[in-house]
Amino acid sequence: MGNVLIALGGNVGDVRATFQKAIVQICGMAQGVLIARSSDYATPPWGDEDQAPFINACIEIETGLDPHALLFVMQKVEQKFGRTRSKERRWGPRTLDLDMIAYDDVSLQKPDLTLPHPRLFERAFVLVPLAEIAPDRVIGGIRVRDGLASVSTQGIERLPDTG
Ligand code: AMP
Repeated sequence: MGNVLIALGGNVGDVRATFQKAIVQICGMAQGVLIARSSDYATPPWGDEDQAPFINACIEIETGLDPHALLFVMQKVEQKFGRTRSKERRWGPRTLDLDMIAYDDVSLQKPDLTLPHPRLFERAFVLVPLAEIAPDRVIGGIRVRDGLASVSTQGIERLPDTG
């Protein structure tokens, strides 16, 4: 079984409800077990600032799928929740964005999949939820809590549990 960290994000529709459903779908389609789920966080839009705030979260799963098969599942789940990549602008609004942050200690550089995720340590909106569930994980030689300490978390707010 592979141990995988996945980041979730979105800013269109009922994103928190989308996350709940998407996590169930990912685990179901990936022969996966949910090990940990962070809180949801409201985060300022990034890249293109002229849009609604995002909600972000991270999960840890164990899966019987290899990295590419899991990426395929993640893209299917994105599509299921209405994401049409061809109609989006880069960094623009989206119902659901799923990024594979790390898959065991796999290091991969393929046209369609880079592991660990190359922009992880630039993104406070990923590091904050990730540090909640995996603060001591070392990814690409950097401990998650140390990566978090070196970025600004201004404007990121933990949302109360929905119960
Ligand atoms: P984005 O639109 O930012 O979600 O980028 C998605 C594209 O990045 C897809 O075409 C993926 O094939 C590619 N990609 C490369 N590495 C990863 C990764 N670690 N997790 C998710 N998508 C990835």
